[in-house]
Amino acid sequence: GNALDRALDLITEIPDFPEPGVLFRDLTPLFGDPSGFAQVIDALGEAVGDGVERLAAVEARGFVLAAALGYARGLGVALVRKPGKLPNVAGRVDYDLEYGTATLELPIGSVRPGERVAVVDDVLATGGTVAATTELLRTAGAEVTGVAVVLELTGLAGRARLGAVPVHALRSV
Ligand code: IMP
Repeated sequence: GNALDRALDLITEIPDFPEPGVLFRDLTPLFGDPSGFAQVIDALGEAVGDGVERLAAVEARGFVLAAALGYARGLGVALVRKPGKLPNVAGRVDYDLEYGTATLELPIGSVRPGERVAVVDDVLATGGTVAATTELLRTAGAEVTGVAVVLELTGLAGRARLGAVPVHALRSV
């Protein structure tokens, strides 16, 4: 609706970050706006749909979105971490970024075997982060039911990297 559009219009564009030629989408004003944030959380809830038993999110902005949505929907959150933070790692995956490489780790006990889990994040770019998260969750025995993001950067074709998993973006640019 219009209120959601106004909320998403709070996202700004920062040229040449983190590299020259890259247009960074900054969600800071959206996170800082109470009604805009509420609009986005409600819309992510619709995107996630019913029949989900848990959310999964990647540090750090994904945590903020998934925490609010998990509270609203009564769902726990699997917290996917950057490397070196966890004493109890169930799984680890290395993946390529637009520039360089990254690693993500899943804590032991994050998901139950067969559990239906939806992944929540702020931005889908190349899809590497969500693909790595999906791999971690599946290796731990979860069923990934879908991906919900605030913003999808279609030029980077992240969706194509996620195979058959349904991707819901509140806005695609
Ligand atoms: P991907 O792995 O290339 O899809 O990048 C997605 C991850 O990088 C997400 O977790 C985002 O938080 C972050 N990211 C990539 N591009 C942007 C951007 O333009 N603005 C904010 N975050 C971004």
